[in-house]
Amino acid sequence: YDLVGLDNLVANTAYLRAQQVDYDELRKRRVSLTLPKPKNSSGLLLDRKYESVCEQQPIGRKLFQEFLLASNPQYVAAAEFPEELSHWRFAEDEAREKAKRSILAKFCQPESKSFLSYLTGEAAEICKNLSNKNFDEEALEQIKEATRDFLRGKPFLEFMKSPFFYRFLQWKEYEKQKITNKYFYEFRTLGKGGFGEVCAVQVKYTGQMYACKKLDKSRLKKKGGERFALLEKQILEKVNSLFIVNLAYSYNDKTHLCLVMDLMNGGDLKFHIYELGERGIRMERLIYYTAQITTGILHLHSMDVVYRDMKPENVLLDAKGQCRLSDLGLAVEQHKRAGTTGYMAPEILKQENYRISVDWWALGCSIYEMVAARLPFKDFREKVHNEEVTRRTLEDECKFEHKNFDDPTKDLISRFLRKKQLHRLGSRGEDPRSHRFFQSINFHRLEAGLVEPPWVPKSNVVYARNTDEFRDNSEVENIKFDAKDEKFFNEFSTGAVSVRWQKEMIDSGVFDELNDPKLNGHGCESVWT
Ligand code: ADP
Ligand code: MG
Ligand code: MG
Repeated sequence: YDLVGLDNLVANTAYLRAQQVDYDELRKRRVSLTLPKPKNSSGLLLDRKYESVCEQQPIGRKLFQEFLLASNPQYVAAAEFPEELSHWRFAEDEAREKAKRSILAKFCQPESKSFLSYLTGEAAEICKNLSNKNFDEEALEQIKEATRDFLRGKPFLEFMKSPFFYRFLQWKEYEKQKITNKYFYEFRTLGKGGFGEVCAVQVKYTGQMYACKKLDKSRLKKKGGERFALLEKQILEKVNSLFIVNLAYSYNDKTHLCLVMDLMNGGDLKFHIYELGERGIRMERLIYYTAQITTGILHLHSMDVVYRDMKPENVLLDAKGQCRLSDLGLAVEQHKRAGTTGYMAPEILKQENYRISVDWWALGCSIYEMVAARLPFKDFREKVHNEEVTRRTLEDECKFEHKNFDDPTKDLISRFLRKKQLHRLGSRGEDPRSHRFFQSINFHRLEAGLVEPPWVPKSNVVYARNTDEFRDNSEVENIKFDAKDEKFFNEFSTGAVSVRWQKEMIDSGVFDELNDPKLNGHGCESVWT
């Protein structure tokens, strides 16, 4: 027998089967779940901003919608208008025409029962005069903003006094549960990093699959990696982007700090460039991935975060074939601009450009690598001293010898590889997304996850190395932890991350199950009437 091979096969089979979640079976197993009573103190500590409760948090958003739809026609219209507006924005061709006619008839005619009667002043005028001819993004955005202003006033105050908000507090209480290893089933190792391995895990009662990055406490302490681990966690929990891996939970056990994130089971782009048949990535996929990466980098920059580790190896594909940036262990938060506009010296302004421009340079190198399966200043597996690569990077012009480079791609790469950072695309306030390389991409639809991926990973293939290649032989001596270490472990282990956790509750059906008045004695409606 090839026992190593057998181990790997068993691990792969369990991992692949876990991904075929049987939701009915799971539902049967969790009949006893009920929501806890909110503690008095938790309501006081809660962030009660409209944006947080009704827009950012998926469960708060859903309950607020339910509240509006159960109220008067004016509130119903205010709930429905933004939905139909985003439908129009993302629709194409005929569906878009239809969505437009519906908006005009439903919300803009004073005799319609869904007329936006709460609008006042300029927004009310715009709404009444809206027609086929002046139906543009700007006018609609203005009506949408006025709708938000309306909602965050009286409707929001009423919501907070309603049973729907009590239900929200119950979910917030539930969200605070302590997370331990028992919360998950564990599956095979998917990769290895500097402080430990990454394995697949599954939440027992929802069936949701995640990747768990385990950081060895002893190793962290010995190498002084604690600060970076905490930074990685804090940045990951703040980002909420379709193109960056999101954090769902952080917790710790005796030996490890654990980061539970989106499972990316389609492999990393380095694997796709070098290990799967033809080397390089074909143009359609290249454009799609580059568009998603660019959007992810812009998202980080908009949060004043510099990624600093852009390379194909750190871009991972999910089951649908969409990609996300991962491994934010090198990312740093920039200090907010020190100074006031108008008074800041050139070197301060230049510094700021410098910091973000490293990501655009690295993206240029990565696009080059995706086309040519080598780097602009280093051939594939070339044995060369670092000093020589440095010299070439500083002095040589980038050459495009590979047959697959077309004009727009060469132009985009050249602009990202400008030696002077102030001349580099992306660092001068100029938006890389407007480059003709991205001509075929509708970024609005892309950001909403509506553009079909050009390539989808096979559901019966594990896009990772064999498990035995991750065996760890190095000894870690047992290190004693003091009170300061324990304090750090606790600071790190904050449990569920609101937005991601609430999404899991909704996607897995747990939200509907516990919210359904028929299944649960004290549903919102029975208290309401
Ligand atoms: P390090 O910071 O130590 O380099 P990484 O975050 O890069 O650790 O993770 C190590 C490896 O684990 C990656 O190269 C990748 O193969 C795998 N991996 C990391 N995150 C995920 C994920 N979310 N889904 C699937 N595999 C992952
Ligand atoms: Mg890494
Ligand atoms: Mg790292």
